[in-house]
Amino acid sequence: MDVGTLLVGRRVLAVDGSEGIGSFLLELLEARGAHVTTRQSAAGAREAFAAGGNCELVILDILLPDADGVELLRELRRVDDNAVIVVLTGAGGGQSATIAMRAGADAYVEKQHLTGVGENEHLFDALAHAFEHRSGAIARRQVEAMRTDFYNMVTHDLRNPAGNVLVALKLLQSGKAGPLTTQQVDLVALAFRSASKFVGLINDYLDFAKIDAGYLRLDREEADLVAVVRASAASARSQAEVKSLTLSVDAPERLMGLIDAAKLEQVVDNLISNAVKYTPDGGRVGIRLTELDTMARLEVTDSGEGIASDQLEHLFTKFHRVPGQKTAQIKGTGLGLLIIREIVQAHGGQVRVESAGVPGEGSTFTVELPLREPVR
Ligand code: ADP
Repeated sequence: MDVGTLLVGRRVLAVDGSEGIGSFLLELLEARGAHVTTRQSAAGAREAFAAGGNCELVILDILLPDADGVELLRELRRVDDNAVIVVLTGAGGGQSATIAMRAGADAYVEKQHLTGVGENEHLFDALAHAFEHRSGAIARRQVEAMRTDFYNMVTHDLRNPAGNVLVALKLLQSGKAGPLTTQQVDLVALAFRSASKFVGLINDYLDFAKIDAGYLRLDREEADLVAVVRASAASARSQAEVKSLTLSVDAPERLMGLIDAAKLEQVVDNLISNAVKYTPDGGRVGIRLTELDTMARLEVTDSGEGIASDQLEHLFTKFHRVPGQKTAQIKGTGLGLLIIREIVQAHGGQVRVESAGVPGEGSTFTVELPLREPVR
């Protein structure tokens, strides 16, 4: 940034308890083309900020006679997140500078560097740095807002119509829209299976895209984990019946926790649906939920072909699917376990897998989750 022209036409508010520093700044910055207003107190600064509006640069003393400068800084930030704010600290004010930077300042200058003859470059360097810092923050905010809009739009535009297709097919299947011929029943069943797979894939890709972009947000509420597990098991039941699998749930009456129930249902859905997918006909899938002090432990065990030991460590990586599995024709994205791990870790928990890699001995996926305080 060119320091020579940086201040031309800018509206500046300089707030300092000492009149001397105020007039020093006024003279110095106006000589560089800025329009400077000075104030000596927090009250004055608030009034000038509110009345004048659109202050592009605020130079703010951290030690004001009538208020804590950092508090005032936070207040100004809440009102205007675009203004560049530079704080003035005392000599060796490293600590207060750090606090101010965390509170939203863009740069700081030690006062002793202000008035010394020929030392104005400290101030101008800080100002140039502060303008760059603020434009970076503004650009990041804009990109973030665009991304959120984009994800919301894509999620809504893809998930909703796909969900509508499923609802319509379910209605046809139920006979409520009129009787179907045998051939139509078969066709609707085929359409329903394909549409469900399609919705599953869309959901995996969208969830992954969101997580990959750092958009996993938990919405924690007090909820019953047992209800979550039972709901997942119920929705997997028809899938299990098609393969004549025994699906058993062993859980306490209730297990309350501060959790994102919708996301955890997705975790349990995925684990159960994997167990069902990767277990041959006639096998067993067991779901066990136990309370351990402040933690919950969920184990999903199957009697499938198991997973070779050299594959275990790769399971939770992007797009990984175990090569050469007998069940290789089973459709999947290789994203489910990655999504599971991210959701579980966001809750402060962990997920692991054990398998002897012996056909028929299956695998056990275990999730351990703190139930109480949000960890992190
Ligand atoms: P997907 O099932 O969509 O391929 P996942 O990330 O859920 O993706 O699983 C990754 C891979 O781990 C699967 O492709 C499969 O090879 C293996 N896997 C997952 N669960 C089991 C299981 N219960 N038994 C055997 N293999 C499994």
